[in-house]
Amino acid sequence: MNLYKRIYKEIKKYNTIVIARHIGADPDALASQIGLKEIIKNKFPNKNVYAVGSPASKFKYIGLLDKFEEEMYDNSLLIVLDTPDKKRIDGVDYTRFKSSVKIDHHPFVDKTCDIELIDDSASSASQLVLELVYNTKLELTKEAAEKLYCGIVSDTNRFLYYYTTSKTFKLVSKLIDDTKIDFTKLYETMYLRPLKEVRFQSFITTNMTVTDNGLAYMKITDNMLKEYDVDAATSGNLVTNFNYIDEILAWVIFTEDIANGNIRSSIRSRGPIINEVASHFNGGGHIYASGARVKTFEEADELIKELDEVCKKYKEN
Ligand code: AMP
Repeated sequence: MNLYKRIYKEIKKYNTIVIARHIGADPDALASQIGLKEIIKNKFPNKNVYAVGSPASKFKYIGLLDKFEEEMYDNSLLIVLDTPDKKRIDGVDYTRFKSSVKIDHHPFVDKTCDIELIDDSASSASQLVLELVYNTKLELTKEAAEKLYCGIVSDTNRFLYYYTTSKTFKLVSKLIDDTKIDFTKLYETMYLRPLKEVRFQSFITTNMTVTDNGLAYMKITDNMLKEYDVDAATSGNLVTNFNYIDEILAWVIFTEDIANGNIRSSIRSRGPIINEVASHFNGGGHIYASGARVKTFEEADELIKELDEVCKKYKEN
């Protein structure tokens, strides 16, 4: 039996299903999670299906989450989406479920679940959910299609990244044909942002440091966030906007996150492989899109040094 069918069988078997994803929710993690919940509920209206984890107010247009309760562990199935490492599963203890399934598009980190569908050539977790639907008796609803579309568009940065493939386009084309979603309308919800955020982006553009090796970096303190009235998540997410700048091969934004007592780093690249450096700082991610949490700005300097070295080697080759 193929993996899709095995996952479908597990979904069919359990009356209570908890869908989780990684900490620091992003649109793809949320869209795949809430979209899959909608799809399962559509097929099996009597099942109890919960999408759990900390909410992200910035992405509330994707949908609402459920509060996790202890009794949800009882005799239930866990589906973990978009999360390669156990330590980053948000809000649940994966060991306490009766059965578990992982669906992920990151490079493999550790075995967590009984059944694992991992394809790091897939553009997004949302794409994998779509593949699951089209390879089983699950059916796509219009509402779920809108969410999955947002997830794919967001994780590929509007079909820009290398893991956008002909398969991605075929699946998206089928999704649009099947559900007739008004996808251009979704962009307004996804990309509308306050002027203060654009001003903050200009502040980063003006003040970031660019090394001779093509590494750009910027350290954002809590005071800077306060001055521009933006939060740490917003600051980190701006990292996607610094692609295709001639002098910059890789770039990183460090943001002081007072609430979590650490510094979030969001790293991107258009050539040098960066996830290995992120892993040296207890982080990880994709080869060109990674992140890590460091304790101090001194530790951030070490990360900068390693990234700069990677850029140097890339240039030399
Ligand atoms: P971000 O910059 O937060 O959008 O993250 C980019 C990629 O790196 C995503 O695939 C994340 O899952 C991954 N990532 C971000 N932060 C961490 C972390 N602290 N540990 C492991 N992976 C991370």
